[in-house]
Amino acid sequence: MEKIPSRAKVLIVGDSATGKTSIMNQATMNIFDRRYEKTIGIDFRITKWDEGKELVTLQIWDTAGQKLYRPADMNYFHKSDAVVVVYDITNRESFEEVDKHFNDIEKLIPYVETIVLCGNKSDLEDDRQVSYDEGKQLAEFYGIPMFFETSAKDDANISSLFTFISNSYLESK
Ligand code: GDP
Repeated sequence: MEKIPSRAKVLIVGDSATGKTSIMNQATMNIFDRRYEKTIGIDFRITKWDEGKELVTLQIWDTAGQKLYRPADMNYFHKSDAVVVVYDITNRESFEEVDKHFNDIEKLIPYVETIVLCGNKSDLEDDRQVSYDEGKQLAEFYGIPMFFETSAKDDANISSLFTFISNSYLESK
């Protein structure tokens, strides 16, 4: 019998150029594009994640850097089931801005079930400016159960990240 997928809405936030679009592309299409195009507005893709018995459809929304407050965007945001906050491990400033993104989430999506912190570009070890432990401690500080370092380029931990989100979604239903 055909499995009927449950649909979870996943929002990806974080500073520009941290790799939000690349994470989404890797998760949904297994591609990595080296060119950088600033995301304008909101993009979304759907991917199906087979979690044993149940299929979860993840509707992944990729946001453009600083635009969380645009009223038109708020309609998309406030029914999110999960939010991924992304920083770039080679860019300290993007890590320091995580705080601002958390404040936005608290104001705009106060009842979101799952929040995940994600330090992206883990393949660029030589340029690292934020340690793994700092990322983990920040996640703990915010009471977030899950912290991942990922590489959208090497497809490292991307499926773990979305598998975690799919499982959390199924558990919370
Ligand atoms: P966004 O603005 O947050 O959506 O960032 P993009 O996904 O457009 O990525 C910004 C730049 O970082 C692009 O040049 C990507 O190719 C690059 N990038 C994204 N993820 C990774 C990664 O995991 N490793 C490396 N080395 N580069 C990445």
